[in-house]
Amino acid sequence: MPITTADVLDYLQEVADVIGANKEHLTDLDSAIGDADHGINMNRGFQNVLKKLSSVEDKDAGTILKTAGMALVSSVGGAGGPLYGTAFMQAGTAVAGKYELEAVDLLAALEAALKGVVMRGKANLGDKTMVDAITPAVDAMREVVQNGGSTLEALKRATEAAEKGMKDTIPMLAKKGRASYLGERSVGHQDPGATSSYLLINAMLEIAQGKGQD
Ligand code: ADP
Ligand code: MG
Repeated sequence: MPITTADVLDYLQEVADVIGANKEHLTDLDSAIGDADHGINMNRGFQNVLKKLSSVEDKDAGTILKTAGMALVSSVGGAGGPLYGTAFMQAGTAVAGKYELEAVDLLAALEAALKGVVMRGKANLGDKTMVDAITPAVDAMREVVQNGGSTLEALKRATEAAEKGMKDTIPMLAKKGRASYLGERSVGHQDPGATSSYLLINAMLEIAQGKGQD
């Protein structure tokens, strides 16, 4: 069963809900190694995304995702907004014109999202950023899809990998973003952006599971 544009819209609603529910958690993480605004930024951004969705309800998945990306860029300051905005815009470009997404399309979207984040933020793996959660998720998804696995299997593996990647940021020394100003003091804290990335990937799994994908 492919992912439809209705599922993409559900996904963005789910992300807005999950980010809202984790607003304080994300801000607490950012207060340890940043400026305590990641939850607030993300929540503002995805509330703005919701406002734009009614105008693209009947459009293709690419247009919906690009609209979400533009809504994030226009409403969120700091590092996170432009980075996630770029991710959604690039994901949208990867699936432009499509109304149904198979596992291979989801992989293309996630690969493009990661490429967008890296192009814009120039973070390497191990720099203690969202890249450390998204990269293992993309790798895990690629492995499943290349072996002919289902969307649900790909998303399960991607979510597990993102969760591990998120936790693996704890001992890392931050080399990008505000946390890098702390040097050694950034060690021992989970990266807020890696945490929101895990939540965004897990939300895809929730949508696929809700559809009864196999
Ligand atoms: P700001 O740091 O401007 O306050 P946020 O608090 O919203 O922005 O986002 C912080 C998160 O952004 C970090 O936890 C990190 O994951 C991510 N981040 C920061 N700089 C980069 C970068 N250059 N590349 C990738 N991710 C980054
Ligand atoms: Mg911040």
